[in-house]
This record gives sequence, C-alpha cells and structure tokens, in this order.
Amino acid sequence: MVELRRQFHTEPELSYEEVITPKKIALYLKDLGLEVREGVGGRGVVATLKGANPGKTVALRADFDALPIQEETELPFASKIPGRMHACGHDGHTATLLVLAKALTSLKAELAGNVVFIHQFAEELAPGGAIAMIEDGALDGVDVIYGTHLWSPLPVGDIGFSRGRLMAAADRFVINIQGRGGHGAMPHETVDAVMIGSNISLMLQQLVSRNTNPMEPAVVTIASFHAGGAFNVISDKAKLEGTVRTFNKTVQNQLIKRMEETVKGVCEASGADYSFEYIKGYPAVINHPEATDALMKAAATFHPQDNMYETEPVMGGEDFSYYLQHVPGAFFFTGAGNEKKGIVYPHHHPKFDIDEQSMLIAAKQLGAVSLAHLVTAMVTRS
Ligand code: MN
Repeated sequence: MVELRRQFHTEPELSYEEVITPKKIALYLKDLGLEVREGVGGRGVVATLKGANPGKTVALRADFDALPIQEETELPFASKIPGRMHACGHDGHTATLLVLAKALTSLKAELAGNVVFIHQFAEELAPGGAIAMIEDGALDGVDVIYGTHLWSPLPVGDIGFSRGRLMAAADRFVINIQGRGGHGAMPHETVDAVMIGSNISLMLQQLVSRNTNPMEPAVVTIASFHAGGAFNVISDKAKLEGTVRTFNKTVQNQLIKRMEETVKGVCEASGADYSFEYIKGYPAVINHPEATDALMKAAATFHPQDNMYETEPVMGGEDFSYYLQHVPGAFFFTGAGNEKKGIVYPHHHPKFDIDEQSMLIAAKQLGAVSLAHLVTAMVTRS
C-alpha cells in the first residue's frame, strides 16, 4: 500500500487530465482478474469482484486526482512534476482501495454478493467526476456505497463518523461591478467601484448573522477583491469572488436571493451596473443512518472503542454527495495526522502529508463493512 501510494504521489495528475493514474489502476485491477471498465464517465475506472454466491452489491469509492500546488514536503517520494501535488491524500485513497481489492479478491469463494471498486477522477474541481461516472453506470446494481477521506485534522488511529451531515454544499459566486472611472481628485464625477465593492463586501458579511437561521450553519466568504491600478485613478470596475457553504437547501436558496438583492440594492443606490453569478458546486454530503450504523458496527469488531466516534460536520465539500443521492451509503474520516511525526499541515497545503498507517485502518474499515454485507448474506441464505 505504501509503495503504491508513493508511486502515485511522485506522479500527480490534475483533475480532468488524468491519464497515467487510471491506466495504472486498471492494470492492477486486471491483474487481480477482475472485470475492469475504463474511461467510465471520461477517466474513471470501475472494477467488479463477483463473489462465488449471489447477494448484495457493495460499492467502494476512491478518488485519484491531485492539485495545482508546488510541493514543499522534501519527502523522498515528493512530486516530480512542478506545480502539481497530491495535497489531499487521494494518492492514499487509491492505494488503499487497490490493495483492499486484492484482499477481497482472495476471499472471493466466501463472498455472497459483489464488490464494485469505483476509482474516480476529478474530485477537486466541479462539476467533478462523480456525476459523469454515475451517468455512465458506475452505480448500476449497487445496493450500498462507502468511502472515506484520509483526514489530517484527526490523529491517525481515530475514525470519525456521522449519521447525517458530514460535509457542506460548496458554491462559488462572482460579482462584477461596473461604475465610472475618473480622476482621484474628482470623486464627484465618478462612480467609485472600490467604494461600492467595499460596501457589498461588508453587507454580505451580515447575511449569516442577520438573515439565516442561527441553528443552521452557513459560511459566506469573499476571497478575492480586484479593482484599480493607479493611486490617483478612481476605478471603474471591481470584481469580487467567493464561496458559500451550507447544509440546508432552504438556507442556500435564501442566501442566493439575499446576496443578489444586496448587490442589486447597493449598485442601484450608487449608480453602478453589476452582474451576479452564482455557481452551485457539490451538494452536501449527507450520510444514511443505517449505512453509518453498519460502518460503526463493523469498526467495533477491530477498532478501539475510544478512537471511533461521531464527528462534527465540516464546511469543506466532496462530490461523494452525488453517490449518496442515488444509493444509501456513508462517507467517513480516517484520521491521518500525527503531531509526533510533524504531519500537522492541513489539506491542500504545500507541506501536506498523511501518516501512511491511516491507509491500513481505512482498508480494514472498508473491508469489514463490505464483509458485513456480503458474508452475513451468505450465512442467512445457508
Ligand atoms: Mn479530497
């Protein structure tokens, strides 16, 4: 697992540009004698392990894309490609699922049912690979799906579950303000886009505190504000970009409406034109309680009780949400941080790393819950 992970780590590929990675994955799975479908939804790989007896079909998913980040870890197996890095642990997800496929294949004769291994491309960039893979049949015949994220905010050895909300809906917005430029000394003859952008920026910060239900989490972040070019020229244009995170659709729609009203109101009052673009990203990851219970029950058979718990949801996004809209299932966090080893950097950081021990824990977890579905079925039948 470690060897595979390091191979993938050395040669990261960006979302929608994956070529070598899916090829390597497909080769490994074919060597196991599995039915392998390549190019699923574009660049995905789906392999099916058919058990000796009929039963349910469990899907397990791992993503394999990397990020446009210059790696700064100085690891011996650091990225060989400038400006690209596996900075979210998807290399680890892939290695975990491949070796787990090998282990489960060795149990083929004892399995009642099937395991579908979904190796997904392009998780990092919306619209994401999940939608396309589902449309191309990745979930056909699947009864339940599981997936995990190796998670550096949790210490290695811990597993975090959720019976419902785990990760937020992640949206993007772009606001363009068109005012009227002019001399810095004659503001009365201009429509100052910097001033208007500042007002909008402040007012958008009030939506979560004044408009949305305090019992429902929401984030509005303006991450980028560009305007102007010279100290004595009033800017005619400003561009603001940011992200909105929510769990609840009502809150999401309310924010979209209030944002547009705010932008429109401020611009009209100031005599500026505007455009407001809101791009919905991945929906929230909402786990199914029964599938989560199955995970926790399976974990209890091999994992220390104190190190498995229900975790708080996070505002990050994941396109695993799409699978959960089609079939029951659950996504969970496998702790991968380790302060003693200096593995303390957040996901998407140039020094991000995982404690590789986390892969074995993730594999055991995914393997145990699969067997819980596939071996119990056999016992029931006989
Ligand atoms: Mn990720």
